[in-house]
Amino acid sequence: MRGFELVRPATLEEAIRLLDTDDPTVRPLSGGTAIMQMMKTGIFKPSRLVSLSSLAGDHSAITLDDKGFLSIGAMTTLAAVEHSQVVLQHAPLLPKVMKRLANVRVRNAATVGGALAHGDPHMDLPPVLAALDAEVIAQGPGGQRRIPVADLYAGYFETVLQRGEIIASVSVPPRNGCNSVYRKTTTRTADDWPALGVATSLGRGEGVLQHVRLFASAATERMTRLGSAEAHLRGNRPEAKLLEEAGRIAAQEVEVIDDAHGSAAYKVALVAVQVRRALHEALQQGSEQ
Ligand SMILES: Cc1cc2nc3c(=O)[nH]c(=O)nc-3n(C[C@H](O)[C@H](O)[C@H](O)COP(=O)(O)OP(=O)(O)OC[C@H]3O[C@@H](n4cnc5c(N)ncnc54)[C@H](O)[C@@H]3O)c2cc1C
Repeated sequence: MRGFELVRPATLEEAIRLLDTDDPTVRPLSGGTAIMQMMKTGIFKPSRLVSLSSLAGDHSAITLDDKGFLSIGAMTTLAAVEHSQVVLQHAPLLPKVMKRLANVRVRNAATVGGALAHGDPHMDLPPVLAALDAEVIAQGPGGQRRIPVADLYAGYFETVLQRGEIIASVSVPPRNGCNSVYRKTTTRTADDWPALGVATSLGRGEGVLQHVRLFASAATERMTRLGSAEAHLRGNRPEAKLLEEAGRIAAQEVEVIDDAHGSAAYKVALVAVQVRRALHEALQQGSEQ
């Protein structure tokens, strides 16, 4: 590993100033669980890491506002999300997802900001937060902006975050009667990186599906919204045939990649099955309430 400068700014503004440079090897460091792996394998050789650890005090709170919006600071660890009673009550899917995300040691160190900014298409959190209509609050040299998690990824390991921009928090809107599900398919251990992740959020009214969100990840080069399958479902009665058709449409529209977790052909077949199952599970949750 080659030498690099490690700086520990005391404020978000100072961190942004230190990151606002033409050098693409200057990066923020949060939990370090992803970036250190990349450095150890020589994929990433930074000239400077800007540690956000001193910002944890101000940016690791989990709060709920009077309109029911959940705010999770970027420096919140995945373990804190997993064990938060506020999260459990207002976004119960998140703690559930954490149980099978990596392992306890990783979740104790990894942060929500890092899990969103890393841009690895195999991450579990992006499709889940996208299905929940969450937004990232990014702070940069030009001020603050909100980016829907659904629009955060530009490509493989690539986000739309600009030079000097840091994820400060993520905002999750109230559920408004919608039911959400994440189905993670792993080909080795249960808590392994997924071969496919499918997240959905469904809301019904007058017997038909009104609110439909459907995202796939891991099998794809970047998290992908399954827009054609969503359109097929919206406005229709959620009968078994419709869910099966949506699975088939999703498998047709998604661009799947081969990797160590399985062949593209296998993953296309998985998409059809897991989309159907995710939709079915979300509808069952609704009928149980
Ligand atoms: C053994 C192992 C198993 C794993 N299994 C899974 C799994 O099953 N599912 C899964 O989803 N993930 C898995 N992971 C990945 C893990 O979730 C990520 O490593 C972690 O979420 C990254 O968070 P971090 O805080 O450690 O980020 P860091 O490593 O500190 O940073 C990651 C990237 O994000 C950038 N960054 C960090 N914070 C910010 C910020 N606030 N704003 C802007 N950019 C920022 C950094 O510059 C870097 O590019 C696994 C990791 C390991 C080591």
